[in-house]
Formats: sequence, structure tokens, C-alpha cells
Amino acid sequence: MRELIDNLKNIELAIFDLDGVIYRGDALISSADTIIQELKEHSIKVVYNTNNSTATRQVYVEKMERFKISCKISDFYTSASIASAEITKIKKNANIFIIGETGLREELRSFGHRIITEPLNFEEIGIDFVIVGLDRDFSYNKLSIAQKCVLEGNAQFYATNEDSTLPVINGLKPGAGVMVNALKTCTGKDPVRIFGKPEPFGIKMILNDTQIPANNACIFGDRLNTDILAGNRAGITTVVVMTGVTTKDMIMELEIKAHDIRDFDKNLVPDLIINNLREIFTK
Ligand SMILES: [Mg+2]
Repeated sequence: MRELIDNLKNIELAIFDLDGVIYRGDALISSADTIIQELKEHSIKVVYNTNNSTATRQVYVEKMERFKISCKISDFYTSASIASAEITKIKKNANIFIIGETGLREELRSFGHRIITEPLNFEEIGIDFVIVGLDRDFSYNKLSIAQKCVLEGNAQFYATNEDSTLPVINGLKPGAGVMVNALKTCTGKDPVRIFGKPEPFGIKMILNDTQIPANNACIFGDRLNTDILAGNRAGITTVVVMTGVTTKDMIMELEIKAHDIRDFDKNLVPDLIINNLREIFTK
């Protein structure tokens, strides 16, 4: 069996971001499948944490199985599943209006919440929460309803994540942050809480569920202002993998800023930079 590199020798839990680390769109990133297998052979617990709220965890299981990566629903922590678990702690069986897709809707339903889709009588029903995530069918009408629930009703505004962009095969599309900011603008309110990275809720939930101490956990991510920031905030080892959105120029810029700017957020700096996942094992 190959050895892990020195910086990762004490790792018992590996948290992987998905897009840009395991796959890009529908294509597996070279060796991601075999490296995950190798980690499991070292008795390292492997889980996945994505900000993408559009798909259910079951859909992610099926996608990973197409890549011959064996996994189960409970290995996945999406911003939708984290939001659903956290919202349930605040109120059970809530009435919720969402700006979002199937993943958010079905995860909330699976936790017992009622998704109000019919705007006609929502005022009588009483909406407890408006939860905003990525919605590729975002519309003026949905925004108007959400605005009304927050301003005229008693709905509290929450968000899955605030990513500005969504990486796709040929470049970038608008991310969930666009929808979140639309509601911020027209209500004059900030979300009470944002559940996805760079907030550390998901990672803390994973540490709690697995009962593995932060000192023995690491996150592999491709984005500094979400994956790495969340990991450092949660106190785990952070590894940026250069197979996604972060470029060499961005790393150089980060090093300059970290050196020159006094109030620079050091949590943006990863503990380790690797070109690809193969580099976590010695040759
Ligand atoms: Mg990513």
C-alpha cells in the first residue's frame, strides 16, 4: 500500500468537494476514482460536500456510481441537505416557499416540510421560511412571491449558498448568489443564515456525524473562497486541488495579498496546494 504524504498522515476523514475535484460536468477527473478507493483501503472515511443544491443526494449517488465510485446517500452533504437538517432544528413541518430546484425541494420534503408552490393562497397558509438556492427557472414571478412572503408575511429568509458563478463544461453560468442577491435587493434584508460553504455548518455537521476530530479531517476543494475558507473556519486541514476553478495566477495573487494586505483573511490560504489528487500519495 502506498503511503499518504507527510502533511496528510494523520487524516481519518477526507471531505471532497465534487465539481472540479471529482468530476467536471459529466466527466470524471483522471484518477479520482482510484484515489478514493485507495483512501478507503487506508480506513479513511470519505464524504462529499457540495454547494450545488439542484440535485438530490440520491442523484449524486447515481452519478458517482456511473464513475464506479461506490457510495451511499449518507456520504453526501449538499447545501440543500444541510439547509434541510438545519431548518428542521429551527422548526419541524414548516411551510416553505423556495426559489430553487428539485434537490432543494425534495430534500426539504424528505425532512417533513411542506413546499408551497401555489402562490394564490399563500397568505392564508402562512409561510415560515423562504429558502433561496440555484434556480435555473428563476423568474420575476417567483421573486415577487418571495419578496411578499418576507416583507408582508412572517417568512424568514435563508439561503443555500451564495456562489456567484456555476462552472459548466464551456465556462461559467450565473450561480445561486444571483438569486440570493435579487431577494436581498428587493427586501432590504440579508439571509438569516447561508448554509453552504464558505460557512462552516456543513463541515461541522460532518465532524459531528462522523465523530472525527477536526485535527484529523481535511477538505479537498478547488475553490478558495468557498471550500478552503469553510475548511479553515471549521479548523480542518485544507487542500486546494488545481483541477477546477483555481488557476496558478490566483495562487500567486493570493500569496502576494497574504503578504501585503494587513487585514487579509488568512482563512483563504490553503494548507496545501496539489496539482491533482494523485499527489496525496507518495510515489
Ligand atoms: Mg468545486
